[in-house]
Amino acid sequence: MIQVRNLVKSFGPLTVLKGVDLDVGEKEVVVLIGASGSGKSTLLRCLNFLEMYDQGEIRLMGEPINPQKTDLNQVRSEVGMVFQHFNLFPHKTVLENVTEAPVFVKKQKREVAKELAMNLLENVGLQDKAQHYPDMLSGGQKQRVAIARSLAMEPRIMLFDEPTSALDPELVGEVLVVMKQLAQEGMTMVVVTHEMGFAREVSNRVAFMHNGQILEQGDPKTFFDRPEHERTKQFLNSIL
Ligand code: ADP
Ligand code: MG
Repeated sequence: MIQVRNLVKSFGPLTVLKGVDLDVGEKEVVVLIGASGSGKSTLLRCLNFLEMYDQGEIRLMGEPINPQKTDLNQVRSEVGMVFQHFNLFPHKTVLENVTEAPVFVKKQKREVAKELAMNLLENVGLQDKAQHYPDMLSGGQKQRVAIARSLAMEPRIMLFDEPTSALDPELVGEVLVVMKQLAQEGMTMVVVTHEMGFAREVSNRVAFMHNGQILEQGDPKTFFDRPEHERTKQFLNSIL
C-alpha cells in the first residue's frame, strides 16, 4: 500500500528526512516512534502530500506518485490523516463536520453523506452527538469525531499523528479502542504514538525513527524485547 524510497526533505538548511525507506502492506498497522524532532510528522505529511519532499519516491497502492502529474486531491482522499489537535470546524455540528468533505470534495449527495456519517458516528460511539458542536465535546469525543470525519472520505490508508497526545489520560483509552477496531477491520494504518501498549497489542510492526531515518524496525515483540541499536534502547528506556 505504501512504498517509500530514499525520501529526503529539507526546510531551508535543515535536512529533516535523510533518506527514509518504508514499506507498509495491505491491512498492516505500523507504529512509528522516535524522539521529538526526529521527522515523524514530516514523514506522515509527505505521505499524503501536505508537504512536498525534495528527493525520493513514494508509491501508493502500487502507483508511483508524480506530484506534477498525479491528482493530489485524489491521493489525499485515499490517505486519511488524523492530527493531535483534532482540527474540527468549530462552527459546524458534528454531523456537518463529518459530511463536509464527502459533499463538497467528493460531490456526494447530502442524504447519502448523512447516512454514511451516521453509521461512522455509531461506530465511534457518538451517534447521539450528531447535532452537537465541537465545543460541547470532550477531547476524546472530538478525536473520535475527527476519525469519523476522516473515514467519511473512504480512505484506503489512515495516518495518525499522535492522536492521543493532547488528551487527558482518562480519555486516551476510548480513542485507542476506536483505532484498534479500525485495525481489526483491516484498515492499513501508520500511527505515530507514544502508546506502547497499543504498539504491542495492535501493531504488526514498530519502526524507530532517529535523526531523519528509520534506524530499526521489527515486529513488536522482537522490537521491544530485543532492540538492536543503542539509540533504540536509550529511547525505549526513556519512555517505558
Ligand atoms: P517529529 O514529529 O518527529 O517531532 P517533525 O517532523 O515535526 O518531527 O520535525 C522535524 C524537524 O523539522 C524539527 O526540527 C522541526 O523543527 C522541523 N520542522 C518541521 N516542520 C517545519 C517547517 N514547516 N519549517 C521549518 N522547520 C520545520
Ligand atoms: Mg510530530
